[in-house]
Amino acid sequence: MCKKEPTAPIQKIHPQQYHLKGYEKTVNPIDHHIKFALNIKDPNVIFFDYSYEVKQSRRIKVYRATVKATFKRCPQCGFEQLNHNGHYVSRVAYLTANASEPVDLELHKERLICKHCRTSVMATTDLVDKYCHISRATRQKIFMHLQDDRTQKSIARDNNVSPSTVCRYLDNYDELFRRNYNYLPEHLAMDEVRGVGGVLHFICINGAGDHEIQQLLPDRLKKSILAYFNQFHIKVRQRVKTVTLDLNSYYQDIVSTVFPNAKIIVDRFHIVAMMTRAFNQSRIQLMKQYPKQTKAYRLLKFAWKLYLKYEQELDAKQLFYDRHLRQQLTQQERVQLGLELDETLANTYTTMQGIMTCLKNHDQAGIVTYLNHNEQLSPKMKTTLITFKKNLAIILNASEFKYSNGPIEGINRMIKQIQRTAFGFRNYHHLVSRIKLQQMRTKPSKKTALEVK
Ligand SMILES: [Zn+2]
Repeated sequence: MCKKEPTAPIQKIHPQQYHLKGYEKTVNPIDHHIKFALNIKDPNVIFFDYSYEVKQSRRIKVYRATVKATFKRCPQCGFEQLNHNGHYVSRVAYLTANASEPVDLELHKERLICKHCRTSVMATTDLVDKYCHISRATRQKIFMHLQDDRTQKSIARDNNVSPSTVCRYLDNYDELFRRNYNYLPEHLAMDEVRGVGGVLHFICINGAGDHEIQQLLPDRLKKSILAYFNQFHIKVRQRVKTVTLDLNSYYQDIVSTVFPNAKIIVDRFHIVAMMTRAFNQSRIQLMKQYPKQTKAYRLLKFAWKLYLKYEQELDAKQLFYDRHLRQQLTQQERVQLGLELDETLANTYTTMQGIMTCLKNHDQAGIVTYLNHNEQLSPKMKTTLITFKKNLAIILNASEFKYSNGPIEGINRMIKQIQRTAFGFRNYHHLVSRIKLQQMRTKPSKKTALEVK
């Protein structure tokens, strides 16, 4: 009689009974199909039913499953005899491809009771954490979504959880910035970022390699920056070779106190930007001396970007029609015409181009020569060069090393975008978590840090 059981028609077995003795090896079609569709592999979860339900005027797909308890002995006293003691029914939100039709799992978790000490134990599954009603898969998906440039509200809507749940997960995201005080990258870059409530935050990134954010402090006070870096052992700090900064930042003395062996580098692009700004101001000043209808005015007013281009890169062959001047000429001729108007402007131009070229060619002596011959320049450019002279050492470093603050500007851009998408953050920690998560997406983790034993 018993031998014929496995060949009996499937319909005679209630789906909830497949896991019972004698049927373990029989394929349960409902369980098989649902597991295939939901991508669930846990053998202790056995699906037996599915249906639609209406909750808060929404149609929900509900899959029902029993969770088998796998305890062999009582976890309290080790007694071997555990008796079945009913089921605990819980609802778990699960992944869904179509957010307008949420998927719930109704898990009937088996409970066992110990005959010896009367302790009750309940079956557990990998699908969901204890005391939790949102599946692990959903949580992982929320984390994946948090790495994208999208609002928390839209993530909540897509995963059929409340926005505060997404917020709570963000709170729990604890893999924040460098807390291991035994590492520091060899090359650092520092700057500030406007963040929560318009406050400036100090930011420090890996100047080379993957440009991973090392730290984003709640403010940019000297006190907090020093306190942060002083947590690193002096041996670790000694290993830092270069620190890239903005020229007008006040971090220079912080860097020299905290990193005794580090060379301060000013951002190359920042130097060039300061000079081009000075040149543009001088150009506009000169332009305003001419009436608007004159050719001189138009020479200075239009095609100003050509003045800022590297001299060598100006086109000397190809003619183009300048509609402001109403004539055909090359880029080189166009610049030449503008500079012929005023000797001071021409000198300013030569100096700017000279320093730009020297920076590019790592010509330190050239830079010094240009800085020492600042006669007959426009007042704006003179002031800029005086600033450069004051910081000569770090300007020269800029021509020596290839590191720049370019990456940090890129990260600044990303942080701005994150804040725009979220319509601003009120919580500093949420901002930091979002930045970290989004950087994870763009930069796969790679270790570029140093280890000191
Ligand atoms: Zn017990």
